[in-house]
Amino acid sequence: AKAQGRNTLSFFEPEMQAHTSANAQLQSDLHRALERCELLLHYQPILDRKRRIIGVESLVRWQHPEMGMVSPARFIPVAEQCGLILPLGDWVLEQTCRQLVAWAAHASTAELFAAVNISARQLSQPDFVVKVLETVRRTGASPSRLKLELTESMFLLDVEGVIEKMAALKRHGIGFSLDDFGTGYSSLCYLQRLPLDRLKIDKSFVSDLPDNANSAAIGAAIIGLAHNLGLQVIAEGVENQEQWQFLLEGQCDAFQGYLFAPPLPVEELDRRLSLGSDQ
Ligand code: C2E
Ligand code: CA
Ligand code: CA
Ligand code: CA
Repeated sequence: AKAQGRNTLSFFEPEMQAHTSANAQLQSDLHRALERCELLLHYQPILDRKRRIIGVESLVRWQHPEMGMVSPARFIPVAEQCGLILPLGDWVLEQTCRQLVAWAAHASTAELFAAVNISARQLSQPDFVVKVLETVRRTGASPSRLKLELTESMFLLDVEGVIEKMAALKRHGIGFSLDDFGTGYSSLCYLQRLPLDRLKIDKSFVSDLPDNANSAAIGAAIIGLAHNLGLQVIAEGVENQEQWQFLLEGQCDAFQGYLFAPPLPVEELDRRLSLGSDQ
């Protein structure tokens, strides 16, 4: 067993090293990306039951000079590990607030909310609340148009501290969604105590709808639970008509996914919104 263990180790070692050095390269590239403005935001529409766009989720994109578009699924974990998620997160928040101000000036976009993904590391900073409020004030964004998406990984933090921070921001009108619900460490007892407005059903459940009986049961249960707690439900990753129909019949409140629109550059989103208001 020992010999086998050694073999396994020597077999995996070069691969792990390659992975580590690829991450180190990515990390230094990301540092440069932040300085040279290689990051941009795309906005994915969130729709109500009547298929009207009510808001967007801000999703960061990285146009790497050699590698092309790098997926956030690849670089966000690296940024979280090395701490670059802090300046990156500040940038996403500021950029989104500026966009909210631009949208506030036009009738077809004035009512939109924008949701920003917040990583556990950002939330655990002692100055998180001050920083968010300061960004909102400096940019002139309306706090009630800003939503923050937290994941269940925040249950691993000091929960009392998290509740206090959320409550402080909520007093200023900023809303909260619990992202990727059903995939993490959720405890139903926390769910009741956190000042949340919305739950987002993770796309892994949505993708199996409606044929997978387990996902259908879980989806229906999440919607029922959320409504009983006074929370709205957003389904993410809605890709086809069958999923949309199932969720609609299940009284889901809002929807996001490729069936409606992928994450869009701001010009494309604005174009769709102004077309919508002409009709
Ligand atoms: P997420 O917060 O769960 O975001 C939803 C992801 O699902 C996005 O991937 C979106 O493009 C994708 N998506 C939307 N509709 C569909 C669909 O119908 N089908 C499928 N299969 N996928 C769909 P994206 O943009 O690649 O982002 C991946 C993750 O990276 C996000 O997952 C989020 O965890 C993280 N992320 C992105 N931007 C930020 C950011 O600014 N800050 C932080 N902390 N994390 C971010
Ligand atoms: Ca999200
Ligand atoms: Ca999500
Ligand atoms: Ca996700």
